[in-house]
Amino acid sequence: MPAHAKKEDLLRDIIAHAKEYGFVFPSSEIYDGLGAVYDYGQNGAALKMHIRDFWWRAMVQMNENIAGIDAAIFMHPETWKASGHVDAFNDPLVDNKDSKKRYRADVLVEDYIQKIETKIEKEISKARKRFGESFDEAVFRETNNRVLEYGKRIGEIRERLKEALERSDLPEIGKLIADLEIACPVSGSRNWTEVRQFNLMFDTKLGSVSDDAGTIYLRPETAQGIFVNFLNVYKTGRMKVPFGIAQTGKAFRNEIVARQFIFRMREFEQMEMQYFVKPGTEMEWYGYWKAQRLKWHHAIGIPESSYRVHDHIKLAHYANAACDIEFDFPMGFKELEGIHSRTDFDLKQHEKHTGKKLQYFDSDTNESYVPYVVETSIGLDRMVLAVLTHALTREKLEDGSERLVLRIAPPLAPVKCAVLPLVNKDGLPEKGREMMDRLKVDTECQFDAKDSIGKRYRRHDAIGTPYALTVDHQSLEDDTVTIRERDSMQQERIAIGEAGKVITDKTSMRNLLERL
Ligand code: ATP
Repeated sequence: MPAHAKKEDLLRDIIAHAKEYGFVFPSSEIYDGLGAVYDYGQNGAALKMHIRDFWWRAMVQMNENIAGIDAAIFMHPETWKASGHVDAFNDPLVDNKDSKKRYRADVLVEDYIQKIETKIEKEISKARKRFGESFDEAVFRETNNRVLEYGKRIGEIRERLKEALERSDLPEIGKLIADLEIACPVSGSRNWTEVRQFNLMFDTKLGSVSDDAGTIYLRPETAQGIFVNFLNVYKTGRMKVPFGIAQTGKAFRNEIVARQFIFRMREFEQMEMQYFVKPGTEMEWYGYWKAQRLKWHHAIGIPESSYRVHDHIKLAHYANAACDIEFDFPMGFKELEGIHSRTDFDLKQHEKHTGKKLQYFDSDTNESYVPYVVETSIGLDRMVLAVLTHALTREKLEDGSERLVLRIAPPLAPVKCAVLPLVNKDGLPEKGREMMDRLKVDTECQFDAKDSIGKRYRRHDAIGTPYALTVDHQSLEDDTVTIRERDSMQQERIAIGEAGKVITDKTSMRNLLERL
């Protein structure tokens, strides 16, 4: 029960908490940071590693027919012509002539829509106060004239924007901004340049070549590293369709709108799996992976109500089905993962650009074909934000005090177990150290003897440590310790000899994998 009245407060709290407790820092902060680039601190790096590990195991370890690879960030530049990124990986941008600030034109319109949505929320909360217990939000939304009017307006603006984006009609997007009288949030003026296309790929030069021929790109997605290795993995792994190739790794996009913390970054990490299937069977596999990926999300204990699936009605020209798994972020429901049925578009494009056959030979039917692809693509950083959003809880305790606790699924927690001598004397720290030395070969634990025991429990609650083992005077006599559970704060005594097994059992990744 997160006690955050307003969602904006939640994002602010998450950013502050992430910084204070070593999860996420602005990049090169001592130089005042770099826009939309972040560093993971000691706890964030561990959390991220465990989420990545859970994904990797769920894909590669749990599926005999999925192979994991690690392709390079730099790829032959022709790759990005084949994939369509050189020509079409663009966002529409617009500059304000007075503030010199640059915006994504579609986001300016989306923000305008958001303001209307806030007005609807205000109407609802006013009515809720007025009608009290008997208030029915659904009925109010369907019948209140003002709310209906706002809703209609939102629908019209969305439709105009969607059509303009689909036709890449930049003047129309500019006209929409003018018609809505959208002003620059910085200068307050409506003095805009025309809307232009902006390619999101970062480029750089390879080796000593300085002309255009030497231009290479930092990959904007990991997927192409999989497509270009299709033959390699198929042949060396002796794979049979259907089979998958999975990888995790950095991707780079020169995002124009750089905000919302680690939701939209210029350097981020993706976890992608391309599943190669026989043409004609792709819808079956698309359904399978959609269900499978939702199971993965639900396995970590975030309630299903925090997720929603948005099926795409209008599809990219090469796709025959697509959906987003959206998460209820502090900014509202937004894309966390995409699942796409991409037909044979990518492999065929690479065939065209390389002149090589990228086909599968089916020995049962003696025929060769270019497989169809169903992909699952999730942003690791967005998943970290989803976990933090769900986990950060401000709790009132019985004694009236408050505690901040991160309710992270134990297998994902940065530290699995805190080893805490009750007092920093009487031989307790030595006993604790001894225990720590035995435990640390099994799991990630931290020894902490400074400050009162209450403060130390709070520190570990705040980074999500699921268990604390406390060494007290009785431990010296009978080799037992108390084990405290983070969420319930319940304590019980266990033998020191059993502690390693108890903690590793309770925090094992197996607990999550068994739910898939
Ligand atoms: P958006 O519409 O939010 O820009 P997208 O549709 O361009 O996302 P995809 O190209 O489908 O995203 O990438 C797959 C996944 O990679 C996304 O679902 C998201 O989790 C992640 N991702 C994409 N761009 C970013 C980014 N700039 N920062 C962090 N994660 C990202």
